[in-house]
Amino acid sequence: MLLPAFEYYRPQSLAEAITLLGEMGEAARPLAGGTDLLVNLKLKKLAPKALLDLSGLAELQGLAQENGKVSLGALNTASRLAVGSPQVPRVLSMGAGALGSPQVRNRATLGGNLVTARPAADICLPLLALGAQAVLAGPGGTREVPLDGYFKGPGYTVKEPGEILTKVLLEAPRPGVGGGYQKLGLRQAMEIALVNVAAVVMLEDDGSTIKEARVALGAVAPTPLLSPGAAQALAGQSADEAAIEAAAEAAAADAKPIDDHRGSAAYRRDMVRTLTKRALKQALAQAQGNEEAQA
Ligand SMILES: Cc1cc2nc3c(=O)[nH]c(=O)nc-3n(C[C@H](O)[C@H](O)[C@H](O)COP(=O)(O)OP(=O)(O)OC[C@H]3O[C@@H](n4cnc5c(N)ncnc54)[C@H](O)[C@@H]3O)c2cc1C
Repeated sequence: MLLPAFEYYRPQSLAEAITLLGEMGEAARPLAGGTDLLVNLKLKKLAPKALLDLSGLAELQGLAQENGKVSLGALNTASRLAVGSPQVPRVLSMGAGALGSPQVRNRATLGGNLVTARPAADICLPLLALGAQAVLAGPGGTREVPLDGYFKGPGYTVKEPGEILTKVLLEAPRPGVGGGYQKLGLRQAMEIALVNVAAVVMLEDDGSTIKEARVALGAVAPTPLLSPGAAQALAGQSADEAAIEAAAEAAAADAKPIDDHRGSAAYRRDMVRTLTKRALKQALAQAQGNEEAQA
């Protein structure tokens, strides 16, 4: 399959990129790793007149930590996030490491995953569980959007066509906070999840009471979904088997799966229950500094 003809631009600053995008409107598409965009061009699902290569934009690069906040540039690849670092929460490394294959991970970016906004996206789900915010820059300036509220439907977000996603902001990893990630596919690799779950828990200073938790569910609704029931079942509870069971039941109840050729809704709901338990056990083990005890 050949790529169609397109004009190619490589802006050198975010301001230049926003101006170009403003001038060309819907005729131009930003290009990051190309793992979604170039495939869609080849399949003729999209036919933009121009591609705007983001790779020269310093504003979209890097990992930084300041005042307890971590800023992750949109051009960080899944491979870079999967390797991990003190700034990258483990749940995010796990999700990024589960995306595609090594070749895809070396190209696929955090920004591309968030803009593509598939319901099972392996980077979106951990970021949602982490309570991250997306930073969008456009002609009208910059705005920060909590990911809970950013996703609108499959491939559809609050991002306007003239905006560029520059980075995400999240709380820096700290003791007493842990994360877990579970992905079920029909194959072990190169697979969009049949169901995936990311969990983040924060413990009180006593190390055994759950202060707050977020469980994000993938592939069981039109968007990545936070389970309010699981959060409610865990907050203020002792970090034990009973709390995990209650949260898993609540997550299964919050899921809105559909039947399709890959699996039935009932099977997906069952798997939400199972994967939520496993992800929470991983999260609690990390929060308690006892990762050997992971499920
Ligand atoms: C073989 C294969 C396997 C895959 N497996 C998985 C998987 O297991 N899990 C998974 O989640 N995904 C998977 N994907 C999908 C894809 O790799 C990811 O969604 C990836 O994160 C997209 O990032 P990208 O940098 O390649 O985006 P691109 O393809 O460059 O862009 C995707 C879209 O986002 C827009 N865009 C990109 N960056 C920005 C930005 N900063 N601001 C504004 N708009 C932007 C582009 O204009 C385009 O519309 C797979 C893809 C392939 C081809």
